[in-house]
Amino acid sequence: MITNSSEGSFGFISDNIKYIRSEIDDAASKSGRSVDDIRLMAVTKTVSVEAINFAIEHCGIDLIGENKVQEFLSKKDLLKLDNVEKHLIGHLQTNKVRKILGQVDMIQSVDSLHLAQIISKESDKMGISTDVLLEINIGDEENKTGFDKSEFFESLCAISELPSIRVKGMMTIPPICDSNLQLEKYFASMNEYYHQIKEKSFDNFDFEILSMGMSGDYKEAIIHGSNLVRVGSAIFGARIYK
Ligand SMILES: *Cc1c(COP(=O)(O)O)cnc(C)c1O
Repeated sequence: MITNSSEGSFGFISDNIKYIRSEIDDAASKSGRSVDDIRLMAVTKTVSVEAINFAIEHCGIDLIGENKVQEFLSKKDLLKLDNVEKHLIGHLQTNKVRKILGQVDMIQSVDSLHLAQIISKESDKMGISTDVLLEINIGDEENKTGFDKSEFFESLCAISELPSIRVKGMMTIPPICDSNLQLEKYFASMNEYYHQIKEKSFDNFDFEILSMGMSGDYKEAIIHGSNLVRVGSAIFGARIYK
């Protein structure tokens, strides 16, 4: 069938989002929470402006995540972002910090003390405070971004002294696991660390977000305490990288 209406060609997006919301509802109630306690982020890397705007205007998406500074900045002016929160979720090179500050509402991918320091320093120069999440390499995998667990605990004090960032929580991408049991162990330990740190009273920490769970594992993540799931391909279909 050939159709010119955006509703017609993007109908699958609203079907996908409806399905995901019902799955979130289900997982939330299993963990004693309500669907309103869990935020659904639409991950928009490689996705067209038209498809993203459809999700925003017709499916109630109010939070998007992009991986790359350049891609986000090139799409941004064409997106209907008035009531939408924008987060950077991909690795941020220090030489791109100045370009992205003030353009997004949160940087979820703060993966080193050095990057946190630069974000704070540049935010300070711009007279702003930047909300961030600390990305944890929960499986201590080589060649993966994020703080290793030991590095994370060693860096907390230094991060807590940075004046122009506000640390809102933690983010992770767990290792690819053979079994759900193994995967759930990673989510469970993230949840444990999150609550440990939430209880400490660092000045610039204001823990309210545990960001974990993607297309293949958001239900398990929610059951283990996630309150922000980052879903890309389950909403928009498989990504085509150019
Ligand atoms: C791409 C990406 C996602 C979404 O992945 P899907 O499996 O397509 O849902 C989530 N988080 C991060 C950090 C990503 O880079």
